[in-house]
Amino acid sequence: MNALPAWLTDTRLSAEIVPLLSGRSEASLEQLASEAKAATLRRFGRIVSLYAPLYLSNHCSSGCAYCGFASDRKSPRRRLEPDEIKRELAAMKALGIGDVLLLTGERTIETGYDYLRQAVERAAGIMPRVAVEAFPMTVAEYRGLAECGCTGITIYQETYDPENYGKLHRWGPKRDFLERLETPERALQGGIRSIGVGALLGLSEPVAEATALARHVMHLCRSYWKAGVSVSFPRIRPQEGGYQPAWPVDDRFLARMIFVFRIAMPDVDLVLSTRENPAFRDGMAGLGITRMSIASRTTVGGYHDPEGAGTSQFEVSDDRSAEEFCRALRSKELEPVFKNWDPAFNGPIVTEEAGCP
Ligand code: SF4
Repeated sequence: MNALPAWLTDTRLSAEIVPLLSGRSEASLEQLASEAKAATLRRFGRIVSLYAPLYLSNHCSSGCAYCGFASDRKSPRRRLEPDEIKRELAAMKALGIGDVLLLTGERTIETGYDYLRQAVERAAGIMPRVAVEAFPMTVAEYRGLAECGCTGITIYQETYDPENYGKLHRWGPKRDFLERLETPERALQGGIRSIGVGALLGLSEPVAEATALARHVMHLCRSYWKAGVSVSFPRIRPQEGGYQPAWPVDDRFLARMIFVFRIAMPDVDLVLSTRENPAFRDGMAGLGITRMSIASRTTVGGYHDPEGAGTSQFEVSDDRSAEEFCRALRSKELEPVFKNWDPAFNGPIVTEEAGCP
């Protein structure tokens, strides 16, 4: 493997955040929560923006040990065809959703770039905001997606530990640690406006993972200061394949991590998905988390046909309806926002690397 980028091994941030993440600082969890809440209010007010994932396909050419869609799983494979995508989007729209994340696995013959680009085009005609979580692409391919109306890319490194990464990504294109690490920058160079990063918590030692993730975010914010950057905090959930996390992350650590990220990165959107249970999600909303998924289906075709859509990538933990979830947010005096973006803003932006102003 080529040398790791300098930012990943830059220890300057460690002295500041490692004691906070590991609980060795004098600050209690309650103090961190209160500081994080104040920072969230200052920068984001009481707004929580909402989105929902749309699984386009469960085809995949990679063998991630922790995923229900890995290419050695026995469940039937399928992809949504254009009329099915339209039907799913209509079902989502009926729930009030205006911000969609399109997902698929690593490239296959069935689900390559052209398929994805057409899905983006279709979704952008219906939804105000379209983002993609799929395979790593070239700068030119990202530019093509931006031209079709894609404004955001989510790409998790999964684990920032290169050795562990090699063991968990058993085969397929996703085995290339550095190629994946460089993907967020290629997306931004291609004119994508916002980038979402994260580590799949449970795969490697959590303090080291959180520190590496923080370094990644800082690097992106400094180098691409015009871009929006968001951070997700996915924990491993039960899935076909039965992978058990080597480093389970409990609620206390995850809450601490969210608070530390909010305090250290006041402008960054922090995202919590329906992998987490209702009590934890409700507790974190407004205490640091500013963006959440709702009414999620992690099966292919699961909005139109929730019962008959087959195997999910992982089990969701918060299965409340959009209405129930919004009620819970309002009871905390938070304002759910379904549309936080207008297509009038779409169109590729010219990106250039530059330091912080
Ligand atoms: S995590 Fe993504 S790339 Fe890995 S097996 Fe699952 S769908 Fe494929």
